[in-house]
Amino acid sequence: MAAPKVAVVGAGVVGLSTALCVAETFPACSLAVVAEQFTPDTTSDVAAGMLIPHTTPGTPIHVQKQWFKETFTYLFAISNSVEAAEAGTHFVSGWQVFKSTPKEELPFWSDVVLGFRPMSEAELQKFPQHSCGQAFTTLKCDCPPYLLWLEKRLKAKGVQMYTRKVANLWELQSEYNIVVNCAGIGAHQLVGDQKLFPVRGQVLKVHAPWVKNFIRDGDGLTYIYPGIHSVTLGGTREKESWSLSPNPNTTKDIFDRCCALEPSLQRAQDIKVKVGLRPSRACVRLQREILSQGGAKLLVVHNYGHGSGGFSMHRGTAKEAAHLVGECIAALQDFSSRAKL
Ligand code: FAD
Repeated sequence: MAAPKVAVVGAGVVGLSTALCVAETFPACSLAVVAEQFTPDTTSDVAAGMLIPHTTPGTPIHVQKQWFKETFTYLFAISNSVEAAEAGTHFVSGWQVFKSTPKEELPFWSDVVLGFRPMSEAELQKFPQHSCGQAFTTLKCDCPPYLLWLEKRLKAKGVQMYTRKVANLWELQSEYNIVVNCAGIGAHQLVGDQKLFPVRGQVLKVHAPWVKNFIRDGDGLTYIYPGIHSVTLGGTREKESWSLSPNPNTTKDIFDRCCALEPSLQRAQDIKVKVGLRPSRACVRLQREILSQGGAKLLVVHNYGHGSGGFSMHRGTAKEAAHLVGECIAALQDFSSRAKL
């Protein structure tokens, strides 16, 4: 059988990392990334890129923990290598603070991040509105550099990149044996997934180089995440809102909330406003599917619906998607040997 031809639809963090895992696992495949938008114009470019998972109800906790751990281990190695500056990955320490004692004593990811511990009384003095908190060190991606780094690695492996909107996965059937759907919120239209919905997020990217520690209100709504080139101030979670236009009232509200947590941000400069739609679902759709139409078959692997945690889980889900691609390759070999009988 000739080398299988695989197309990955989507060039956000999920599509690029899935393509990279497929290229690493099955180097004999001919692989292409097909996407309407590439960096810097994807949802993944808007994200803060922090490795702090959000719990999703439809996936067992041990699976979410496995995805997070694989992602953390992968980025830990990059952050300790000479690649770190180009990949835009780095360690960041800080605090998650609460106004009242959280229901959950220990988050499931507490033994994956580094040095997780309750905050001391002295640390809590910095946050007079809050009664308790947790201190830890995690990893962060500066998103556009990380996406560029992934693209560069793919190109070095001979992966082709095509800018194209795909209206229907069948469009790719004449050119590819396997299609991997990593379209993010675009999957709502592409495969008509009614369980997928946007959770709009507005953030500010500001110049405040003196801010070195992250601060996250335990409600997950207000956060200050310092990156290499800018600090991300957030945010909003607006379920079912498809609007990509920045809302000036929200900008002021985010700024005021973040200044309440870190008053020195009053001096922040060069404020840029970004909006993105989190591709949300009760669980990530990580699934193999065989589509049939008039006697023809198309092997599809879905990997979308990462909601608020695309960066936190991308390498773990990419590895699982690559495993499903492996099952598709085995099925293709089976079809071709049966056709010869
Ligand atoms: P996208 O980045 O949206 O990529 C989808 C790709 O598919 C694009 O290339 C698009 O052009 C392409 N596509 C779609 N439809 C089609 C089509 N029909 N034909 C061809 N191409 C198509 N996550 C974290 O883990 N940590 C954070 O700190 C964090 N902060 C966030 C802050 C904000 C404000 C927002 C909005 C999100 C945040 N997230 C965070 C979530 C994270 O951004 C997403 O989970 C992640 O970006 C999803 O990646 P994706 O590759 O699935 O989607």
